[in-house]
Amino acid sequence: MSEAKKIDGKLAAARVLEKVRHDVAELKAEGLAPCLAVVLVGDDPASHVYVRNKVQRAEEVGIRSIEHRLPADTEQVTLLALIERMNADPAINGILVQMPLPPQIDEASVIQAIRPDKDVDGFHKENVGGLVLGQNVLTPCTPTGCLYLLEQALGDLSGKHAVVIGRSNIVGKPMASLLLQAHCSVTLVHSRSKDAAALCRQADIVVAAVGRPRMVGADWIKPGAVVIDVGINRIEENGRARLVGDVDYDAVLPQVSAITPVPGGVGPMTIAFLMRNTVLATRLQNPLAA
Ligand code: NDP
Repeated sequence: MSEAKKIDGKLAAARVLEKVRHDVAELKAEGLAPCLAVVLVGDDPASHVYVRNKVQRAEEVGIRSIEHRLPADTEQVTLLALIERMNADPAINGILVQMPLPPQIDEASVIQAIRPDKDVDGFHKENVGGLVLGQNVLTPCTPTGCLYLLEQALGDLSGKHAVVIGRSNIVGKPMASLLLQAHCSVTLVHSRSKDAAALCRQADIVVAAVGRPRMVGADWIKPGAVVIDVGINRIEENGRARLVGDVDYDAVLPQVSAITPVPGGVGPMTIAFLMRNTVLATRLQNPLAA
C-alpha cells in the first residue's frame, strides 16, 4: 500500500530521458547535433560531482557535451568573455554555469550574460518573464520536473489548490508560475507566512522547497493530498549520515495519496529536464528545421 503511494522519480526520469534520446536522434537526422556546454569554476567537490553527472547523462542520450574547467581565482571578465564566445558559437545550443561561483564573480551578471535561448537553466530575466507571461521559453529544470511528476500522478491539475513552500528564484517562484499556468489556485508560503501549517492543510498539492529537514509534518497535510518534496538535507541520525527531505515522509505517508521520496523523487528529474531543455534550446535556435 505505502509503496503504491511512492512517486518513483528514477522511473519518471528514465521515461523523460528516453523521449529526449528519441528527440536527439530526430534532430540529428535533420542535421542538428545538440550540444551542451558546462562551465565549472573552482574546486567545490559537490559541483564537480554535479558536472560529472550532467556530462555523463548528456552522453547517454546522445547530446554532445563540452566542459570548461576554470580555476577558483578566475576573474569575472574572463568568464563573461567565455560566455560571449559560446553565445556566438552556433555549434553550442545550451550553456550551463555551475553555481555557486567564487565570491569575486557576481552570479546575477553571469546568468544575464547567457543568451536566453541557450539558458538551459531557465534563470535569465527574459525566460523568467516569459514564464510569467505564459510564453514558450526555457523553464527551470527542478520545478518543471516537479510539474511533470504532478501531471503523471494527477492528470489534469486544473482547479486544484497548490501550496508551494519556499519562494526562491530557482524553485519556489517558478514552481508557482508553472502551477498557475496549469490552472491551479496557488498559495506561496515562506518564512514570514502566518500559520504555514494551516495554509498547507488546505492544499490538494503541496510542493516543499525549503531546506529544513522534515519540517512538514502530518498536521500540515490534508488527507488525500499529493506531496512533492524538493528538499535535500544532509543530517546525522543514529550515528550515520543520511539524506532527508523537507517533509517528514513516514509521518505523512498514511495521509497522502502520493508522495516523492528523498532521495529518488525530485532529484533525478532535475538532470532529465536539463537534457530536455537542451533539446528545446536546439529547436528554439533552429525554428526552420524539421
Ligand atoms: P532557498 O534557501 O533559496 O529558499 C528557501 C525558501 O524557504 C525561502 O523562500 C524561505 O523563505 C523559505 N523558508 C525558510 N524557512 C521557512 C519556514 N520556516 N517556513 C516556510 N518557509 C520557509 O532554497 P532553494 O529553493 O534553493 O532550495 C530549497 C531546498 O530544495 C533545499 O533543500 C535544496 O537543497 C533543495 N533543492 C533540490 C533540488 C533538486 O534537484 N532536488 C534543486 C534545488 C534545490 P524566505 O524567502 O522568506 O526566506
